[in-house]
Formats: sequence, structure tokens, C-alpha cells
Amino acid sequence: MTDAQDDCIFCKIASGALGTELVHETATTVAFNDLAPLANKHILIVPKRHIGSLAELSHGDDGLLGDLMETARIVAGKLGIADSGYRVLTNVGPDAGQTVFHLHWHLLGGEPLGQFGRQ
Ligand code: AMP
Ligand code: ZN
Repeated sequence: MTDAQDDCIFCKIASGALGTELVHETATTVAFNDLAPLANKHILIVPKRHIGSLAELSHGDDGLLGDLMETARIVAGKLGIADSGYRVLTNVGPDAGQTVFHLHWHLLGGEPLGQFGRQ
């Protein structure tokens, strides 16, 4: 699955079809605010190419992975939370509670974050 998916909300956002305000954009990635923030700062870091989740990545995607992590680092700087700290995570599948099946990293910060794990 590498082409834009008609029914994928993040493909639509990444293509600009919804006019979503982007916090940052590169040739391969976009970053935008999560609509239901779980922290003072909550940004989603998304590849422009449709990939369902981390489970679909392979060694051939190493460059894209680097782009995504670099985007997270740049966005943290833009948000002014590079020194105070932040968390970057991706949910994969049902037990992690993945709800949007287009690969994305959550970037959370701007306040002390709680622990995570079993609830
Ligand atoms: P996950 O549960 O890891 O799949 O995360 C999906 C995230 O996408 C959730 O935090 C949602 O609040 C967020 N989300 C869903 N639709 C949109 C949207 N149209 N714009 C911004 N964030 C969204
Ligand atoms: Zn998609």
C-alpha cells in the first residue's frame, strides 16, 4: 500500500485536500496539530506516502524513518519544547489503541507527562 488511499484522513491532510494548517512540511512528511490533544502540545508526524503502521515498514523505508524522526526533532524546536522534553510514540494495532491506519508519530510535550503502559 503505497498510493494515497481515498478513504484515509491522513492521506487527505498530507495532500492538502483539507486545507489543514501544517506545523511543518518536508518533501516526505507533514506535521499538524492533533484535533483531540492529550498534552499541552500534541502534534502528529506523518509520512506523505500511505503506510498502514510501523508493522508495514521494512529496511527500504530507513530513509523515510529518518525523515520522520528529523521532522519530530525540528517540530519540537519550533514549539519551544526541545529543552523541556517531549515524547514521541506510535501506536500499532488493537492493544495499542491505533485508530487511524496511516503511520503517524505522536509528539507530546509542553508539560510534565505521566507514565504510560497498562491502564
Ligand atoms: P492513534 O490512536 O494512534 O491511531 O492516533 C490517531 C490520532 O489522530 C488521535 O490522537 C486523533 O485525535 C487524531 N486525529 C484523528 N483525525 C484527525 C484529524 N482529522 N486531524 C487531526 N488529528 C486527527
Ligand atoms: Zn493514508
